[in-house]
Amino acid sequence: MLNTLDEVLLMGPGPSSVHPRVYKALAMPTMGHLDAQFLALMDKLKENLKDLMATKNEATIALSATGSSGMEAVLVNLIEENEPMLIITNGFFSERMVDVASRLGAKVDVLEFPWGKHADPGEITKKLKEKPYKLVGMVHAETSTGVLNPIAEIGPLVRSMGAYFIVDAVTSFGGNELRVDDFCIDALYSCSQKCLGCPSGLSPVSFSDRAMEKIAARKKKVPNFYLDMTLLMKYWSGSPRAYHHTAPANMYFALYEALNLILEEGHDRVKARHIETHEYLVQSLEKMGLSMLVEKPWRLPNLNTVLIPDGVEDFAVRKELRATHKIEIGAGLGSLAGKIWRIGIMGHTGRKENVDTLLAALKKILG
Ligand SMILES: *Cc1c(COP(=O)(O)O)cnc(C)c1O
Repeated sequence: MLNTLDEVLLMGPGPSSVHPRVYKALAMPTMGHLDAQFLALMDKLKENLKDLMATKNEATIALSATGSSGMEAVLVNLIEENEPMLIITNGFFSERMVDVASRLGAKVDVLEFPWGKHADPGEITKKLKEKPYKLVGMVHAETSTGVLNPIAEIGPLVRSMGAYFIVDAVTSFGGNELRVDDFCIDALYSCSQKCLGCPSGLSPVSFSDRAMEKIAARKKKVPNFYLDMTLLMKYWSGSPRAYHHTAPANMYFALYEALNLILEEGHDRVKARHIETHEYLVQSLEKMGLSMLVEKPWRLPNLNTVLIPDGVEDFAVRKELRATHKIEIGAGLGSLAGKIWRIGIMGHTGRKENVDTLLAALKKILG
């Protein structure tokens, strides 16, 4: 069975393509989760995550689960029942945040912006003045619509009102400008399979000291054992290290190598490569007569939403791309289903040669 699987060029909303060095790291002999060498690797991993996130946060680790677990972790640790929370929505993943926060008993208000538009700092300021929110959550890079939200501006607004600022950086981390301390972020979560270019399975998270103090002062224990940050920190930096769960060592090897690749290339260079590849893709698509969903200033370079031309059948094109050309692109979600394609140029995928491969295939199919 395994030897019949295709090698697919992954150009959808994640997972993205994996660098050969990351595959090599995955195939290393596995290790005990409390082995001294493994613990040293975890320390280094933590330092590299802090470096790439531009944060001093001690509570910066990678959870053994996907990006959605990062969302659960941040919310279950920080929310206490009945706390007022504002969630800024403009797509599928911010709406998921509303669901998760509501299940945990937060009193959620939603400030909604249309799908495909950015979250506007002026409107957010107005909303924040209406009542004292304890927590404010939003998505940085909205993978469902291809919008990059201006969190650098919004973070300081939230901080000035005294609320905790929670950011979904699942798609932005590794691909876009994300300076956790400068952006006044109190907690964020990401994943391994988008701009970091690993298979899925890990979720980097970071909590400010202020957020960790909020967790320490909870009236009731965090109502989730697996995602309890106080317990996880005893494994990631306790002395002696305490067993919490059996860390998937090979996934951590892979993440370690993926971060090394970014550090070797240079973080700024990696971000610039995403922008250059994006500009090349958009220009080429426009030459073919296609147009983008999102207005230019708010476009997310790593995830491009393209309007499907009239008379073109969404599924037939994606099916042909996958079957004949072994390329995966993403479909629209929710109200955008059938109306857009989502073209990811994240991490190792984000290279001009991959754009050329995709465009050649699309030209053949569209005629
Ligand atoms: C992919 C994604 C998630 C969910 O992550 P999983 O790894 O699929 O659990 C959450 N938020 C955003 C913005 C995403 O793009």
